[in-house]
Amino acid sequence: MARADLPPAPQLDWAYFLDVDGTLIEIADTPDAVRVDAALLDLIARLHRASGGAVALVSGRALSFMRQRLGRLRLPLAGQHGLERRDARGRLHRVAAAPAAARRTITQALAPILARHPGLLLEDKGLTLALHYRLAPHLAAYAQRLMARLAAAAGSGFELQLGKRVAELKPAGTNKGKTVEHYLAEPPFKGRRPVFIGDDLNDEHGFAAVNRLRGVSIKVGRGRSCARYRLRDVAAVRAWLADTLQSRE
Ligand SMILES: [Mg+2]
Repeated sequence: MARADLPPAPQLDWAYFLDVDGTLIEIADTPDAVRVDAALLDLIARLHRASGGAVALVSGRALSFMRQRLGRLRLPLAGQHGLERRDARGRLHRVAAAPAAARRTITQALAPILARHPGLLLEDKGLTLALHYRLAPHLAAYAQRLMARLAAAAGSGFELQLGKRVAELKPAGTNKGKTVEHYLAEPPFKGRRPVFIGDDLNDEHGFAAVNRLRGVSIKVGRGRSCARYRLRDVAAVRAWLADTLQSRE
């Protein structure tokens, strides 16, 4: 990657919004298979402390999953693309779930398809329904078309969010960009220059939000993006965060 794409050295008075899968940890074959290592927990804890608490993880994962995997780490967490969010004071904000009948219609329509294609995996995160095709990449176009059709049939309450080997239906109206704006209205994020780091299509909302705010948007890996900067991979993200901490702590 061109040197001109490399982000500037991070500052401890910035506000950090970090995606998790594909950004801080490697993507696994199935959603349950990811491992959060002790080195990462230590890095995030140090950044959180050194920045005065201005670090939030903003993930497509369910909040319950993140809490379970992050163990002792107590920090602001946004799950399901920001549909559920724990703020810096520990308060929980959650959008209303779509009507149960609409969700049931979707899962019932998917049931025979999942039975026919064992490589397709449906993950019910509580507010969103994610159809993973990582184990059956040849079904990508089919899975995307299928979920687009189900989103349209479900009415305006749902929208389709595509990602790496996943097509996801989520309640409309919230995304990672709006989540960043919510955090920036509250201490300790308020008034700081925002940084957003992510690797996937849903992170584009986060990049766009910090671009509007003259922040630092960083795309991990290749692919089209509105982010201003690039880091090559998970290891490069960790190194970028860690180098700065080492020189300042
Ligand atoms: Mg990601």
